[in-house]
Amino acid sequence: MANPWYGGPHRVLLLNLREGDEPKVDAEALVAAAKDYRATAFCLSGGGIVAFYQTKIVGHRLSNGLGGRDLLAEVIPVAHRENLRVLARIDPSCAPKSLAAEHPEWFSRDSNGNFCEVSEHYVTCPNAGYYRTRMVEVVREILQRYDADGIWNNQGKFAAWETGVCYCATCEAMFKAESGQAIPRKENWDDPVWRHYNEWRYRRIADWVALMHREIHAVKPDAVFIAAVQLMESLETIRPGGWDIDYWLAHQDIPTFECQRRHTAPFWPGIQAVSGHARAGEATLDDGELFLSVVAAVRRARSGKPALDRAASGQWRESVAAHQRRLL
Ligand SMILES: [Zn+2]
Repeated sequence: MANPWYGGPHRVLLLNLREGDEPKVDAEALVAAAKDYRATAFCLSGGGIVAFYQTKIVGHRLSNGLGGRDLLAEVIPVAHRENLRVLARIDPSCAPKSLAAEHPEWFSRDSNGNFCEVSEHYVTCPNAGYYRTRMVEVVREILQRYDADGIWNNQGKFAAWETGVCYCATCEAMFKAESGQAIPRKENWDDPVWRHYNEWRYRRIADWVALMHREIHAVKPDAVFIAAVQLMESLETIRPGGWDIDYWLAHQDIPTFECQRRHTAPFWPGIQAVSGHARAGEATLDDGELFLSVVAAVRRARSGKPALDRAASGQWRESVAAHQRRLL
C-alpha cells in the first residue's frame, strides 16, 4: 500500500517471551522501557506454539504463566497511547502433542512415519493445516481483536528446530503430484530428484508466505508482515528449511535479516549464503577476497577492534583464524 506506517525508519525491539515470563510483563513499564531505548515499535509474543493472549481458538493452548491475563489486550493500548507500534510474534513451527490426536495430518513425520518431538511439542508441517489454516485463524484473531500493527513470524520452515526432512502424507502426495517421484530418503546432490525436492521446499515456503501475506492484509491493509528472519544463519538452516528470500521477497513487507553466531556463521552469513550457493553444495569459506572485504568492513565499523575473535565456530574456525592472521 502507498505510504504505510512502516515506510520510514523505525527502531524495533523484539521481545521473545518464554512460558513463565508473563508475570514479569507490566504494560506501563514495558512501554516506558521501549521508549527509553528510543524504540518506535516493538514485537511481543502473540501466538502459534502457545498463546500469550486469551485466544478463543480451540486447541490454541494458553501459555502456562498467563493465568487470566491477556498480554496483547494489556500492552497494545498502552503502546498506542505512547505512539509506539506493536507487532505480534507468531511461531507456526510446533504445537502441543495433544493436538496430534485430533489433527495428526498437521504434523511432520520422519522417514519412519513418527512425529518429530521438540521440547514436549511436535513439529508441524509447512504444507499442512496448522500452517495454512490454524495460523491464518491466529493472525486474524490477533489483528481483529487487538489492533496489532503487524505480525512478526518466527521459524516457518521445513525441518524446524533442526529436525529432518518431512515425509508426512501431505508432503509425499504434493511432491509426487509435481515430480512423479517419492521424496528421496537421502540427501544426494547428484540426484536430480533431490535437487528437485530442494527447489520444491523453497517454493512451498514461499507459497505459505504468500498465503499469510494475503490473509493478513485482507484483515488489516496497513499491517506489516515480517515472514521470516533467520535467513542469514547458514546453508545448514537455509536449505533444509526451504528458506530463501529470493523466493518470497514479494510477499514480505520488510526484508529482515538476522545474523546469529550460534550455528556456523563466522561472519555476516548472507555473504556466506551467496558464496555457498555459487558453489552448488559446498558451504566453504575459502573465498579469501570475499572474507577480507567483510572483515575490513567490520573493522572499520568497530574502529579497528578485532571484531571476529569469538565469532568463528565449527568447521570454519581454522579457516577464519587463518584469514585473520593474514589480515593482521
Ligand atoms: Zn510434511
